[in-house]
Amino acid sequence: MGRAIKGKHPSKKSRRMRVSQGKLSEMFRKEAAYRKTLHRQLANQILSVGVQIKTEKLSYRAFQKTFGKSVGVRAPGMFVTLLRRKTESAGGGVYAFNTRTTALSQVCHCGEKHKKLLRQRIHECLCGVLMQRDLYSGYLARFVKDDVLHATEANLSWSGAESLLRAAWSNSQQLASGRVSPSSFGVYRSKSESSEKENLVERKSLDVVTFGREPFRAQSTLGS
Ligand SMILES: [Zn+2]
Repeated sequence: MGRAIKGKHPSKKSRRMRVSQGKLSEMFRKEAAYRKTLHRQLANQILSVGVQIKTEKLSYRAFQKTFGKSVGVRAPGMFVTLLRRKTESAGGGVYAFNTRTTALSQVCHCGEKHKKLLRQRIHECLCGVLMQRDLYSGYLARFVKDDVLHATEANLSWSGAESLLRAAWSNSQQLASGRVSPSSFGVYRSKSESSEKENLVERKSLDVVTFGREPFRAQSTLGS
């Protein structure tokens, strides 16, 4: 085994080191297996409602830069690959559209544009729409064709979809498994509640969704 010499790696690994490395790789193996199970469950859940998937074309590498380790653990890119394979073998597919031409988080089906900071979790428009922003973007994604949002179609279908989305939003607060949805999702707000509450919610989810990329401007949108 020899002495430790500064600047030199030991030529032989000690028994204790080998044991530690073995334990570590076992932990990584377990983590990967668990991730695979969760990915499969989620993919099957999605497949049970449809095989034509529309999603934003995202750089999961850029995600990693912004959100760090949790992206590696959840492996969204790997999940989309799995989903693609499963939907294709079921006769469907995953269509990833351009976020620059669609910008779903910034628009309303009435035609208005609403620039939002990442920490603003609710889409609210003068036309009367009040919806959790990710659910709303998901709704709009249905009406994207060839990298363009067809807002008129989204407008026509809205009255039928609103209550469904509202129910999904309300249910998200307490998942069936007993887990609470991530605070980045924002808290449910009924249409009659004042927007004062939303400010509180946004403040609460701040530390979860705000990282480096967006300048931290805590006061700029509150109370507006
Ligand atoms: Zn609107």
